[in-house]
Formats: sequence, C-alpha cells, structure tokens
Amino acid sequence: MNRRREFDIAFVGLKPGVHSFDYQINDSFFADYGIQDFNNSKVDVKVTLEKNTSLLLLKFDISGKVDVACDRCANVIQKDLWDEFNMVVKMTDEPDIMNEQEDDPDIYYIGYNESHLHLADWIYEFINLAVPGQKYCGENEDDLSRCNAEVLQKLEQMKSSAQAVSSDIWKDLEKLKRDEDNNN
Ligand SMILES: [Zn+2]
Repeated sequence: MNRRREFDIAFVGLKPGVHSFDYQINDSFFADYGIQDFNNSKVDVKVTLEKNTSLLLLKFDISGKVDVACDRCANVIQKDLWDEFNMVVKMTDEPDIMNEQEDDPDIYYIGYNESHLHLADWIYEFINLAVPGQKYCGENEDDLSRCNAEVLQKLEQMKSSAQAVSSDIWKDLEKLKRDEDNNN
C-alpha cells in the first residue's frame, strides 16, 4: 500500500461528523505507479469523510481532465473525468481476515488500533476507473470520424500487406506439400 503522508488522514483526531479534504492530482502522483495510459492529468479529488463510532463513510468526487491516445488512430484527445465513488471503512479486531473474506470492493476493514486512513491507492484506483475504457476521437457535426485519416489509411495498408504476406506463406506451404507428395 502506498503510504505517502500527504494522502493520509489522521481520523482518530477528528470529531464525529462530516469532514472534507481536497487533493489536486497531476502526473507526478502516478510516478510511483508506473506508466499509465493517460497523461497531462489535472484531477481534483474531493473526499468527504463522515466519522461515526466504528464506521467511516468516504465519498470521492473525481473531476478533471486527462490526455489519452485514441484506440484507432493514436491521436491525443483530452477526456473529461467526472465520477464519484463510495467507500465504507469498518473497524474490526481482525481486519486482515475480514478484508480477505469481503467480496464487496466498497468495504474495507481496519483495526481498532489504526489511527490513519491511507487514501493514495484509492485515489489512484478511482481516477483509473474514471478514465473511459474505450478511447475514440468521436465524430464531427457531419457524423464523420475525427480520427487522423492519414494514420488510419496507413494502418489499412499495413493490414492488407500483412494479409498478402500471410497468404503468400500459405501458398508456399501448399507448394511444399505438393512437391513432397509428388516425390513420394
Ligand atoms: Zn482517433
């Protein structure tokens, strides 16, 4: 688990009730997590924490922008992020066992002796979930693809020449087989 202190909340010292925290996330945040399939990130994460006796209710509001590459033509496109995620943190004597047994990804257990919540990994996960899985340039007003036509044409050419190469291989294989049969 990522333990960067700026993303830790010392909840023990908080009064019961609702508290808010605000995090500005950019590409440097993701450095510890390896290469992402987006960059130029400017993401605002607002965390609302409701403290109860043995339960913490967390809400993560994600908003911002990231640059991604189009799945079809690799053009760089900016995507708006707009999503929210909830997390319930329960206190228990056996957090490790409880976390192992829990199927609900929105429930997390911590021990009664814990004093801090570590938010970095959740922030990482939720921003990634907020980034659209399908990335596409989209269409213009005339319903025509905004994709880079030149790149698409090159990809088409590469595909058909790859097909030509593979059909040549099959022809060669067939010829080889025929020759073998003739020799027998
Ligand atoms: Zn595209």
